Amino acid sequence: MSKEGCLIVISGPSGTGKGTVCNALLDRHAEIAYSISATTRLPRSGEKDGVNYYFLTKPVFEKMIRDGELLEWAEVYKNYYGTPLKKIQERLTAGQDILLEIDPQGAMNVKEKFPDGIYIYILPPSMAELEQRIRGRGTDSEESICCRLRAAADEIAAADHYQYVVVNDAVPRAVSKINAILMAEHCRADRNLTFIHSLSRQERK
Ligand code: ADP
Ligand code: 5GP
Repeated sequence: MSKEGCLIVISGPSGTGKGTVCNALLDRHAEIAYSISATTRLPRSGEKDGVNYYFLTKPVFEKMIRDGELLEWAEVYKNYYGTPLKKIQERLTAGQDILLEIDPQGAMNVKEKFPDGIYIYILPPSMAELEQRIRGRGTDSEESICCRLRAAADEIAAADHYQYVVVNDAVPRAVSKINAILMAEHCRADRNLTFIHSLSRQERK
């Protein structure tokens, strides 16, 4: 079936398990590319430039903004984060899917430009579990943990701006739900117009 490329946007409070769920999803879907964001934050232990993020200095990030190289950008937890535009354009033009894992400010800016995207918000099973996950990750300072927890409550209240919410109680279950969402979205008639029209034009033998 001919298919048009989908822009998939995933957000959720820090520590809810977005990265874990997205990695598991990408492992099962080699056909979905991941949009590597640019950021001015420092790499956490184990993170690699060009794999997890493009780790940039503030002047370089600001030059990308001036040169129009970012689809969107936002200041999150005192650092800049942004989505490079070129890869998104290339993938969608080629009819291929691309996944963005970005914060709600960025997601809503993208939604204005790509209203046909698939917008999914990942919720924690409870706020206590969210705190436990952030602390358990062991990558953030106490100041950063408090900042992320304060932001989480407000952020979650805005989850109704997304089309779908998925509770990450267990990773395989969350991944299955996202799989189901993607499968249904790919079956939408308005995402398959080229194929529908090509079939209806085929002559009977
Ligand atoms: P985020 O990308 O949303 O900031 P991470 O993917 O880094 O979150 O996950 C935060 C922590 O929670 C990690 O230590 C991860 O292993 C753990 N985690 C993720 N999903 C689950 C889950 N369903 N149950 C228990 N722990 C989880
Ligand atoms: P972290 O520092 O934990 O990797 O990410 C912090 C927050 O920044 C998360 O909410 C994450 O979704 C968001 N983020 C990551 N990349 C981007 C991006 O390109 N644009 C925006 N707006 N947010 C991003």
